[in-house]
Amino acid sequence: MATTKVPEVRDITRIERIGAHSHIRGLGLDDALEPRQVSQGMVGQLASRRAAGVILEMIKDGHIAGRAVLIAGQPGTGKTAIAMGIAQSLGPDTPFTALAGSEIFSLEMSKTEALSQAFRKAIGVRIKEETEIIEGEVVEIQIDRPATGTGAKVGKLTLKTTEMETIYDLGNKMIDSLSKEKVQAGDVITIDKATGKISKLGRSFTRARDYDAMGAQTQFVQCPEGELQKRKEVVHTVSLHEIDVINSRTQGFLALFSGDTGEIKSEVREQINAKVCEWREEGKAEIIPGVLFIDEFFIMATNRGITRIRGTNYQSPHGIPIDLLDRLLIIATSPYTEKETRQILKIRCEEEDVELSEEAHTVLTRIGMETSLRYAIQLISTAGLVCRKRKGTEVQVEDIKRVYSLFLDEARSSQYMKEYQDSFLF
Ligand code: ATP
Repeated sequence: MATTKVPEVRDITRIERIGAHSHIRGLGLDDALEPRQVSQGMVGQLASRRAAGVILEMIKDGHIAGRAVLIAGQPGTGKTAIAMGIAQSLGPDTPFTALAGSEIFSLEMSKTEALSQAFRKAIGVRIKEETEIIEGEVVEIQIDRPATGTGAKVGKLTLKTTEMETIYDLGNKMIDSLSKEKVQAGDVITIDKATGKISKLGRSFTRARDYDAMGAQTQFVQCPEGELQKRKEVVHTVSLHEIDVINSRTQGFLALFSGDTGEIKSEVREQINAKVCEWREEGKAEIIPGVLFIDEFFIMATNRGITRIRGTNYQSPHGIPIDLLDRLLIIATSPYTEKETRQILKIRCEEEDVELSEEAHTVLTRIGMETSLRYAIQLISTAGLVCRKRKGTEVQVEDIKRVYSLFLDEARSSQYMKEYQDSFLF
């Protein structure tokens, strides 16, 4: 029987994984794609950021299909951060999906389904919708160039559609504004009770079109039934996965919120693919390639060296079959210097609103170098809490010491397990 526990746990790990990178706002490259030492929350790791910049360009030019990127490097060297940076640089609505390899094996669904969902979460569909004028809405008419012989000003006419009767006059007013300069660009005309029906509009509509012909461009378009419409584009981005879920269940939306989406039938996916292709051809939708980051796995991020390919007796770099490795673009990350670690910790303190004294910063940097960067980052918020508890405003060495003794890093935790393993095993 399925329980609801697993998806909840899964979502919490996802929030944590992305939250730790909230300071990353891009790859920190200049126009020539050269990495700046510290920029957009990114510090150092110059060679891999430069390589990531090239990948970014390939994605933008649509040349990434059929390839994958492997980011290889020791723990805490910024592999996830770089993947996040790529997603951020692709634009604000670029989907970024992160999941751990182990999740694929632990979910209550087949591995193929888990991977399909992950891929489809990382593919965004930007849907453009055109809406009609609705009552009370402000309609803007853009005049891009003056209509010849009318003396109209270049700019915007803002018309407020609140009442219907005078919509008939709209066209006249527009024409007036063009020919007699009574209404100037930027003026607000209130139109009574808008319904947008052509029955009330015939002449003005024709005039609106004439007005186009005169050289000024408006946002009005003619539709077959003769309604006046404003070509107002409402754009929103959803992932393919969201479209799948919404269309596969009567209560699709609720399933999205709970995270318990279950398996999606392949017919549903095929229909969605066909529909999205249709929208693309009609210019109603655009595909936004996102970033799928698979952690602790053999694709995308690895901290494994030459090792046995799982399930076989073969050794290979990163534990990846050589033919797959051949199709990967590999970015390597390397350990940080003390200065860089210090800088990353400083950025995280700013991000988490925690003030640190100089000495505390030095001690935390030392901890970061000797244990792991991630562990040192974890200590920031906890030390902040301890500091607040004693009503301090700035984290001192004492606070860092306190949390360092309260929370174990990986090495100390392993040591502890070794020492006490007899008490854990029955
Ligand atoms: P693992 O192999 O353990 O999964 P990783 O290589 O993916 O580690 P991250 O999780 O990206 O490492 O890095 C650890 C923390 O340090 C994160 O909070 C990350 O945002 C931050 N960080 C890493 N590299 C940089 C960098 N170059 N600039 C700014 N922050 C960084």
